[in-house]
Amino acid sequence: MAKKQFAVIGLGRFGSSVAKYLSEMGYEVLAVDDNSQRVQDVAHAVTHAVIADSTDEEAMSALGIRNFDVVVVAIGQDIQSSILTTLILKDLGVPSIIVKAQNELHGKVLSKIGADKVIYPERDMGLRVAHHLISPNILEHIELSPDYSIVEMKVPSAMVGKNLIQLDIRQKYECNVLAVKKNNDMDITPAPNVPLQPDDVLVIVGRNGQLTKLEQAYA
Ligand code: ADP
Repeated sequence: MAKKQFAVIGLGRFGSSVAKYLSEMGYEVLAVDDNSQRVQDVAHAVTHAVIADSTDEEAMSALGIRNFDVVVVAIGQDIQSSILTTLILKDLGVPSIIVKAQNELHGKVLSKIGADKVIYPERDMGLRVAHHLISPNILEHIELSPDYSIVEMKVPSAMVGKNLIQLDIRQKYECNVLAVKKNNDMDITPAPNVPLQPDDVLVIVGRNGQLTKLEQAYA
């Protein structure tokens, strides 16, 4: 199967980082911005870098943008340009459009006009940092929906030596331990009677409020 081809429009901090990492991972990347300096700054790191205004439908069509499997729109500040660009990409028939939103309302508009995925990098990073501050044991926080998340929690000292039956996380916090990570091994059917070790990592799913309670209880 041919490797996916990506285009990234808007080369601010977020867009240029997405473009560079995709390229480092071996993917073909077209990077677009209407600011020549921004284009120059990433040109060495991606397959093609082009100066173009993404709100110009003809320019986008001439770039063959609809031939890319995924187009990431990373125009943050200029909401009007972000919306117009998404609309144009949709009209041109881009198969998958991922757009960075500035706020919830912006995100709502993007979804309505056909963005396949709306992302909120600053909000999500803020959430992760907040969780990490509440409990330094939280290594990862993945939002599944506005109400539910999965967290990776380094086993707190108060849990070491206890097993899942004794901890009773399901009853006490209405959360489920999906897996226990030991070094690089993932045990997806953790035995409930095996005591947890200091370097174990728990992968837990639950309601956000319940997960926070659990995090605070073991902070
Ligand atoms: P970040 O917060 O990730 O740094 P910015 O909003 O600062 O994002 O950057 C967005 C980038 O999008 C800028 O480099 C800007 O030049 C570019 N951009 C804005 N409007 C357009 C447009 N119509 N066509 C192409 N690029 C655009």
